Amino acid sequence: MIIGDDIGGTKIAVAGFAGDERDRLTRITEVRTLPTPSRAGGPAVVSVVVQAVREVRGLSSVVSVEAVEAVGVGTAGVVDPGGSITSATDAISGWVGFALREALADALEAPVAVVNDVHAAGIAEAEQGAGRGAGGILMVAVGTGVGGAVVLPDGLRRGVTGTAGSVGHMELSLPPQLAERRCPCGGVGHVEAVASGPGLEQTYLEESGGFLPLREVHAAATRGDALAERIILDGARYLGRALANANAALDVGTIVVGGGVAEVGESYVAEVRRSYREAAMPGPSRAHVVPAELGIDAALTGAALLGAALVERSRETPTQPPA
Ligand SMILES: [Zn+2]
Repeated sequence: MIIGDDIGGTKIAVAGFAGDERDRLTRITEVRTLPTPSRAGGPAVVSVVVQAVREVRGLSSVVSVEAVEAVGVGTAGVVDPGGSITSATDAISGWVGFALREALADALEAPVAVVNDVHAAGIAEAEQGAGRGAGGILMVAVGTGVGGAVVLPDGLRRGVTGTAGSVGHMELSLPPQLAERRCPCGGVGHVEAVASGPGLEQTYLEESGGFLPLREVHAAATRGDALAERIILDGARYLGRALANANAALDVGTIVVGGGVAEVGESYVAEVRRSYREAAMPGPSRAHVVPAELGIDAALTGAALLGAALVERSRETPTQPPA
């Protein structure tokens, strides 16, 4: 059995997967979800993952005797090539600097691979979701932040520092009232500062004088509130322009748009697509801009696919030399 694990700031999800080929990997247990001990530090998070894995193995009499072949993890935060967290929001205390891969491999006594959660979601969308058969995708996830992933036919591009695909930190020329807004990364003029959920809420607050959570801004837009509608669609346009910039460098044929903000409705992705086409150079402008298909399970599935790739690799490179 392969274990997929999605570690977020509020919850940890774990499930068992199996399949004779990576492209047929399917979930064979229900998803166990436990609260993240977000104030208790890395070792406490590892303990909760171990508990969830034990529960998943106990879910059926068949899988309870089956060994865990490998564990794939998608986690909040930037992950370096060794599987340590190099930067993160303060959602989990003590997360930055924590050697997550090493701690989990010791605790679970199995091979472990760790990537950022949006990178994991990108792997899943590329192999089993909206990017299936596309020959490479750029994925963007618009939620609390604006994360991204580049998945080419030979796999995920992590980058030297684990930040490849960071579409949210591309700089745009923005109207004066937004141009100086600070991004969570410290930069100004970044698309995340104006197109993420908190970015849209901030714009609504500044323009209307009253705070509304994003889902109420969206509800107002649906009722025909012109200000709320414009703010959401402007966010979609900024994102479309950033994707055009990114794909001038990448030239992938499919761009997958996911995350909580994108799930507010089809009009959002349609506006991202329109803005993308308008801003992109000839050639990449023909790329398909499509909604994500796998929803909240994407990171969990991508993590499991990563675990399955570890198993495949170990089969290709046997530890015993042939006689
Ligand atoms: Zn930024």
